[in-house]
Amino acid sequence: MAIIKKDAVLVSRLRSDLLSWYDRHGRDLPWRKGARDPYRVWLSEVMLQQTTTAHAAPYYARFLELCPTVADLAAAEDGVVMGQWAGLGYYARARRLLECARVVMRDHGGQFPDTEEALLRLPGFGPYTAAAVAAIAFDRPANVVDGNIERVMARLYAIETPLPAGRAEVREAAAQWVLAERAGDWPQALMDLANQVCRPKSPACLLCPLTDGCLAFEGGDPDRFPVKLTKAPKPRREGIVFVVTDGVSVIVERREDKGLLGGMLGLPHTEWVSEMRDVQHLFDLKYQHIGAYEHVFTHFALTQQVWLARVSTADLTDLLRRHNAYQALLLTESKSLPTVFAKALRSLSSLNHTDS
Ligand code: SF4
Repeated sequence: MAIIKKDAVLVSRLRSDLLSWYDRHGRDLPWRKGARDPYRVWLSEVMLQQTTTAHAAPYYARFLELCPTVADLAAAEDGVVMGQWAGLGYYARARRLLECARVVMRDHGGQFPDTEEALLRLPGFGPYTAAAVAAIAFDRPANVVDGNIERVMARLYAIETPLPAGRAEVREAAAQWVLAERAGDWPQALMDLANQVCRPKSPACLLCPLTDGCLAFEGGDPDRFPVKLTKAPKPRREGIVFVVTDGVSVIVERREDKGLLGGMLGLPHTEWVSEMRDVQHLFDLKYQHIGAYEHVFTHFALTQQVWLARVSTADLTDLLRRHNAYQALLLTESKSLPTVFAKALRSLSSLNHTDS
């Protein structure tokens, strides 16, 4: 279905009302400080995909300390960058980040291209990231639509087609507001409105500068939008993670580059399957079952059992000598592990706490 376009005069008035609201109430986010540097804009946009601003902010600060420029990132060691990303999830993003930084250095003389079309050709740049960087870093009029802007548009136009099928209508609606004037501020103003006023539940419509043009507000039930199809529950898998430790270090492995958590350090584990059978004890050690936890990936939910083997430092060294696919990681550095493994080590620390 096509949307019913709003009157251009109304759009122009509401647009400037929202930009004035943004000037007064826009969020003071770390990546908005200083001049708009395409590298910082890009980094923040990649980090914010599937991650809240509060969760991403400390990672952003640490990442910038490690790699203040795209040249630093391109020259960084893969393992160091992957380690910095641990805990942010969706690790393929970190690999593409590195790949893209190297392409920017090699093919673009260290400068990001300044149009949406050219940005789209960079590794890891999808339509959203290309539009966001073109608008925010280069002030280009681009149709930036993330999940937050999607919600505001679905409400403004009372789009009845459930998502994801309704996304074409949402994009058409959002395009009506894209203008050259303050092109970079516009998507940020919408995102801030979505975060502070047009919230997923109970939007604060009485504080909103867009009520005059909002069909969902007029209909009296804005919470109903965006209309969503009911999701099927995620498939469930189970597995066992092996924690082999001398109390100072733990045995980890570098995961293959391709696939889930590719290129990251991880604890050894069994396959993640729908039904566990015939568990092979890693290194033929004796293990103690110390607990279980849940972790939800994009495509499945995992129940992970934690098996612990305490070994002496000499035995740990000997195991590593005999199995060179593995390495030792200090327990104090467990932050460099993805969350699905860091959770296993949390079970360990609660056990230590109970032991003492
Ligand atoms: Fe969202 Fe309410 Fe504003 Fe409509 S009036 S955009 S529902 S906050």
